[in-house]
Amino acid sequence: MERTIEQIHEEAFKEIKSVTDSESIKALSSRYLGRKGIITHFLRNISSLPQKKRPEAGKRANEVKKSLDEAFKLALKHLATESLQSDYKIDVSLPGRTIKQGSLHPITQITWQICEILEKIGFDIAEGPEVETDHYNFEALNIPKNHPARDMQDTFYVSDNIVLRTHTSSIQVRIMEKFTPPVRIIAPGRVYRCDSDLTHTPMFHQVEGLMVDKGISFGDLKGILTTFIHHMFDKKTSLRFRPSFFPFTEPSAEVDILCVMCKGKGCRICSHTGWLEVIGAGMVHPAVFENVGYDTTRYTGLAFGMGIERIAMLKYGIDDIRKFFENDLRFLRQF
Ligand SMILES: [Zn+2]
Repeated sequence: MERTIEQIHEEAFKEIKSVTDSESIKALSSRYLGRKGIITHFLRNISSLPQKKRPEAGKRANEVKKSLDEAFKLALKHLATESLQSDYKIDVSLPGRTIKQGSLHPITQITWQICEILEKIGFDIAEGPEVETDHYNFEALNIPKNHPARDMQDTFYVSDNIVLRTHTSSIQVRIMEKFTPPVRIIAPGRVYRCDSDLTHTPMFHQVEGLMVDKGISFGDLKGILTTFIHHMFDKKTSLRFRPSFFPFTEPSAEVDILCVMCKGKGCRICSHTGWLEVIGAGMVHPAVFENVGYDTTRYTGLAFGMGIERIAMLKYGIDDIRKFFENDLRFLRQF
């Protein structure tokens, strides 16, 4: 009996090798492994063997069954490949080349998200130069030379009169010089300050918003920023406006959101206050309007600005701003 199953095995392999089309392989497979096939028949007859020989014979027959099943499948696959090759003269059995796909940097993703939300509210995107004159970066924004507010920013000076812009607010002035109200723009871009630690890098990104028209009020500012925060974070995110000071807005406010990590309970991220500062805002200072020739008796305006890295850090729970610029693929692949 032992020999017989081995003989069947050997015969089957010889037949597989001699077959040249898939129909014959299928017929052969049915002849050996089908319901009335040779192997099936063999397995059924095991019960007629002496009790002692049955387990070994059964085990061997099942091994042969499995081996033949694999051989038939392989033969079919081989024939399919051969016919494709003869059709196209290429080796389709070669492993494919994977195409490496890049993805957007988390800062780009957040910038796009911010812009998308504000564009829906009705803002257009504006751009301006990163190397800026003292006039647009400071003077026209009500920050004259020797004004103490200049100490608030550690500026990179290219020359006495040329700086790397310290904020995207410089774009506001350029836009207001060109257009008469109504003006409704946002200005995303790189800004530079001489500062580097866990929460500061010498280059980072800001988005600035400016809206000028007749009858713009602090209520509009509050409405716009509340809508923005609810879309950016969560519909239930609470906001609070704290009085603050910026030379180019009056009154000025800093906008805090309820800590996204601890929901106000107090944690390391919010320095146990329950609140996170995310936006600087205010009503455009009349002196800024005078610098660009807007009639302060007719027009009022609102302005706001935020750090994009700050928003990204809060949204993704990142505690070190420098991670964004180290280009560590293990970090970047998570987004
Ligand atoms: Zn917290």
